[in-house]
Amino acid sequence: QAYLQRVTQLNPTINAFITLDEEKTLAQAKAADARIAAGDFGPLTGIPLAQKDIFCAKGWRTTCSSKMLEKFIAPYDAHVISQFDAVGAVNLGKTNMDEFAMGSSNETSYFGGVKNPWDFDRVPGGSSGGSAAAVAARLCAAATGTDTGGSIRQPASLCGFTGLKPTYGLVSRYGMIAFASSLDQAGPMAKSAEDCALMLNVMAGFDERDSTSVNREKEDYTRGLAAMTGEQPLKGLRIGLPKEYFAEGLSADVAKVIETAIAEYKKLGAEIVDISLPNNNLSIPVYYVLAPAEASSNLSRYDGVRYGHRAAEYNDLQEMYMKSRAEGFGAEVKRRILIGTYVLSAGYYDAYYLKAQQIRRLIAQDFVEAFNHCDVIMGPAAPSTAFKAGEKTSDPVAMYLEDLYTIAVNLAGLPGMSVPAGFTQSGNGKPLPVGLQIIGNYFDEARMLDVGHAYQ
Ligand code: GLN
Repeated sequence: QAYLQRVTQLNPTINAFITLDEEKTLAQAKAADARIAAGDFGPLTGIPLAQKDIFCAKGWRTTCSSKMLEKFIAPYDAHVISQFDAVGAVNLGKTNMDEFAMGSSNETSYFGGVKNPWDFDRVPGGSSGGSAAAVAARLCAAATGTDTGGSIRQPASLCGFTGLKPTYGLVSRYGMIAFASSLDQAGPMAKSAEDCALMLNVMAGFDERDSTSVNREKEDYTRGLAAMTGEQPLKGLRIGLPKEYFAEGLSADVAKVIETAIAEYKKLGAEIVDISLPNNNLSIPVYYVLAPAEASSNLSRYDGVRYGHRAAEYNDLQEMYMKSRAEGFGAEVKRRILIGTYVLSAGYYDAYYLKAQQIRRLIAQDFVEAFNHCDVIMGPAAPSTAFKAGEKTSDPVAMYLEDLYTIAVNLAGLPGMSVPAGFTQSGNGKPLPVGLQIIGNYFDEARMLDVGHAYQ
């Protein structure tokens, strides 16, 4: 009730939640109370979580922030949702996002932009902007997000909290509305590494309904946190700093905060190693071939017949498809569908799609080589702090550059997280948060969370 009250008070300004259902939320809370009274509970029982509106939740409107799904009521739960249900967590509501998770500022949402709680003139980042603002403004205890090219880490950086994108395959994509299936991965967005670990304990695990779900033993991601105290808890840890992450494109004030954070890590006992990810500059062009290609295929299901928006007037089937899709999708989604269809078409497939797949392998190979010399990689999560609403909306390429340090991680399928590193001063004097990115080797989330926790 306390959280709902805060949401009622602040959400009209921040616009973090797009669907609330007090009755459902309070019923879940009551059930959690009963479980606690009966002694049947875990760390997340009764904890109010904000769910990104990309996850199907039975009986809840699930829109992906698109007009196309404005009236869609999910008939079943996503794996992530049912995992949280099983431990008695409470669904506080569904959060705003970029339409179909395409964007870096939450400005492509059909339901309007989201305000960054640190400065209402600025964006919270995206695509998980509603979850980000909800966590930062304490409208929820924690939230879920998804990260296809940076959508957990970049908003975590711009809003000043901890967000983790797990290794591809660790968290089931079942019931998570698909954008680019080979890159999409769900993860926690929370106040601390410890909270993220508690959430990941619930989210991770094999699910046969997702063919890319990895069948491996369950881990306790909190297991190392308690040891992260004392003088030099990170003694022996090798931190790789890719020179490409500290080059052109990084704003000077972000660089300063990151360098200070790295110096702190040295004090905690870590050793710094210079590394190189030579193909990083290709990650954005490669991503903007592959992600739209997959999106164009995934979004073909929205035809106005099976579900989704259908135009009111049309003369024949063809026109019905065309009008429904023209009306239902926003500009960025259309741009991706057009690019994706183009790069997959006969005659261009080899030149663009196939080539991009080959370079994707080289990008992944860079990380394999880098991890021969270090245990984790660090750098900025985003090239700048939160930018002003409207600043990049007319320039899609400028918006795409937001993902300069995050996308390669998705292309390689690696885990990455953003932890609060400090604050910089914006032009108008308001402090703005900066996120430090920690990239780990495959399935090395427990170590990454330890490293994040040591600094917090
Ligand atoms: N900003 C990137 C895009 O627009 C990544 C989004 C995401 O991770 N979902 O595709």
